[in-house]
Amino acid sequence: PMPEGRRPDWFHVPAPGGDKTRFSELTDSLRDLNLHTVCEEAKCPNIGECWNGGTATIMLLGDTCTRGCKFCAINTASTPPPADESEPFNTAAAIAKWGINYVVLTSVDRDDMPDGGAEHFAQTVKYIKAFDSGILVECLVSDFQGRHSSVQALAQSGLDVYAHNLETVERLQRHVRDRRAGYRQSLDVLKAAKGFRRGLFTKTSLMLGLGETDDEIRQTLRDLRDVDVDVVTFGQYLRPTSKHLSIVEYVTPEKFEMWKEESEKMGFRYVASGPLVRSSYKAGEYFMENMIK
Ligand code: SF4
Ligand code: SF4
Repeated sequence: PMPEGRRPDWFHVPAPGGDKTRFSELTDSLRDLNLHTVCEEAKCPNIGECWNGGTATIMLLGDTCTRGCKFCAINTASTPPPADESEPFNTAAAIAKWGINYVVLTSVDRDDMPDGGAEHFAQTVKYIKAFDSGILVECLVSDFQGRHSSVQALAQSGLDVYAHNLETVERLQRHVRDRRAGYRQSLDVLKAAKGFRRGLFTKTSLMLGLGETDDEIRQTLRDLRDVDVDVVTFGQYLRPTSKHLSIVEYVTPEKFEMWKEESEKMGFRYVASGPLVRSSYKAGEYFMENMIK
């Protein structure tokens, strides 16, 4: 394995580039509205590309998670501060002013809330669509502990893409994710979402470089197609701090390309795959190119 802290030569993290105007407009507006984006807080390297392309990821329900996945650097507590009830409306009002085409709403896991926060998401989606029915909305959500009532509330809220991340292959679930998460539970949630609304797109992401084998990835892709998942993304796992899981391998760009080709052949509607790809990477652009035909 590559020693920690040393990245292979081809692994470059670009500085935010492209058209700076759009980027700084959004940055200013975010500050004024007191909204939190994952893009900024996670110091995501794709921020220039995504924001200039009209995609941003907003975090709802605070910054403290009830779970502790071993790859994630977010703060955790068993009882985070209560959700802000005015957040669904305020977020929607802010987004409507931005003129973006595609918004990803995501959050920490809120196992402390009776519905896991599903209704809070559903309300936010309804407000966004009420302000501007043309904005496409993706929600990247928890498994809601497998609760179908929560999945249903969100699936029927009017959102366009229901995303839930499987993160890794079956064998490594316990090693990587919080013990409340699970491979079968996540697949079931993705299946249920689709069952609650005809035509809803479902999406999931896998991190590579955690020690998974090619055959295990292939099996995972088959399991995802079996529950009719439309979109899959692959990215390199990067260790946030030395307290988190070690990187077992830096997967080469060629290998990411191979997974893209294999997945497309298996029938996924679109696939984003590359060392720096994250679940929401240019989600809007991909959606326009591949889903609306
Ligand atoms: Fe934001 Fe996701 Fe794009 Fe990163 S990949 S800039 S988090 S939308
Ligand atoms: Fe991080 Fe999500 Fe796991 Fe919470 S549930 S620790 S936010 S990956």
